Amino acid sequence: MHRIEETLERGICIGCGACSAVTDGAVRVSLGPTRMYVADLSAAAETEVRRASRVCPFSDESPNEDALGAPHPDGGMRADGKLGRHSRTFAGRVRDDAYLLGSSSGGLTSWLVNTLIERDVVDAAITVGYASGAEAGELFEYSVLERDEVTGNRKSQYYAATMADVLQDLPSSGRRFAIVGVPCFIRAARALCRERPEFARSLALFVALVCGHYKTQAFGESLAWQLGVPPDDLAQVDFRSKRLDRGANDYDFGARARHDGTWQQAPVRTLIGGNWGHSAFQPEACNFCDDVVGETADVSFGDAWLPQFVGDPRGTNVVVSRNRMIDALFDEGAARGEIEVLEATAEDVVASQAGGFRHRREGLAIRLRDDEEAGLSVPRKRVTAADAASATPKRVALIRQRRRMARLSHAAYARAVAARDLRLYLRAERAEIARYRRIDLTVRQRAVDVTKSVVKRLLTLLPGAFSLRSAR
Ligand SMILES: Cc1cc2nc3c(=O)[nH]c(=O)nc-3n(C[C@H](O)[C@H](O)[C@H](O)COP(=O)(O)OP(=O)(O)OC[C@H]3O[C@@H](n4cnc5c(N)ncnc54)[C@H](O)[C@@H]3O)c2cc1C
Repeated sequence: MHRIEETLERGICIGCGACSAVTDGAVRVSLGPTRMYVADLSAAAETEVRRASRVCPFSDESPNEDALGAPHPDGGMRADGKLGRHSRTFAGRVRDDAYLLGSSSGGLTSWLVNTLIERDVVDAAITVGYASGAEAGELFEYSVLERDEVTGNRKSQYYAATMADVLQDLPSSGRRFAIVGVPCFIRAARALCRERPEFARSLALFVALVCGHYKTQAFGESLAWQLGVPPDDLAQVDFRSKRLDRGANDYDFGARARHDGTWQQAPVRTLIGGNWGHSAFQPEACNFCDDVVGETADVSFGDAWLPQFVGDPRGTNVVVSRNRMIDALFDEGAARGEIEVLEATAEDVVASQAGGFRHRREGLAIRLRDDEEAGLSVPRKRVTAADAASATPKRVALIRQRRRMARLSHAAYARAVAARDLRLYLRAERAEIARYRRIDLTVRQRAVDVTKSVVKRLLTLLPGAFSLRSAR
């Protein structure tokens, strides 16, 4: 069985901190060498380690996404193997264009959090925003945000954080919170509420951000360094600066230097590591995740990466709701003219995250098979190594290359920081990107060849196909 011990041994810890909260701090969580949080079991007694394992999102001892299900289930919800049970899917955005500029996508995540507080459904939010002690070198952190603080802490922070500290005082707070997080963090928070019901009294609602993969803190640093702002001079970053003359997926990355306050920015696609397919600074944990949208949350928000929406630079969300009360808030918001609700079926939402599902289903099966064949412990997932059987050798090569690129990015960047020479990172990344492109090209060529041969075969099967072709 793969427990929290094996998760740590194999470097699969995501640093969520639920293990620390459930053991009242006996399991410590601190920033590790790859600039992400990691749990440490050394000071915890065996009973505490078992308890920690029951909330770890990468342990077989914790309830998985199917076992947890929606937090507030309702008999009428539709089941879906990729989105989880849900009451509703749609696309949409906040109607205020100025507000949209300050959000990553359609702004509905922060709009809902604000609405939940305004309507007294919760007292405050637990989410990732600007770090209060920026001097300590961390740019973002999990904290409690009050009603007037949510709007000032928007946008996606592709930056490793932990819930360990913020969860610690919850049971004694006597307050109700909406917690925002990527899928594995929400799963851990849900498991924590099961293990210690006093947390369930405070964690009233769960809001998930769709997640392609998580990023260590080095991701933002490496992008800023490429703009001429080295890590020790980095004061602020903007992972998603919208450009109204370009598509929603063609945003800028920006960084502020501490020494003179100057701001630099460039299209993220022009920066090494900015392409998500290259997996730069992806934690190893993400190689073992099968939940793209946050199936255990009341509601999930992502980007509508769909042809009908991607051309609108203001940004559009896809939304998967699993809570009728939240559905009613969306309806009221639309009736008041605050938000725009557009049609998006469950299939549309899945299509908007096609790359994420390939990574977490076919890709995961290939990685499980590789690790099992190498005799390594792997967490039990909802896909198995056997599901890799239909993957073509080229596809397998691409998946392996992505994993290799993630690993190399951590090591190459650490060398660059130690030598204070960014070129060490960039050189290593460029070589891997070139390798990735070569594999990707052959995969695409194979897809074209397969399509051509299917069309050819269909033509021979169609009645009259021969004469049609001869007539041309
Ligand atoms: C690591 C990561 C990977 C993602 N991958 C994908 C993807 O592959 N596909 C996709 O469609 N969407 C992905 N998203 C979600 C997407 O980037 C947007 O965050 C989402 O669409 C919400 O946009 P919005 O305009 O509604 O949010 P906004 O109105 O800008 O509000 C964002 C809210 O999220 C909170 N927040 C920001 N970062 C974090 C964080 N790291 N942890 C917890 N809370 C946070 C903020 O505090 C704020 O409340 C990812 C997000 C993250 C953090």
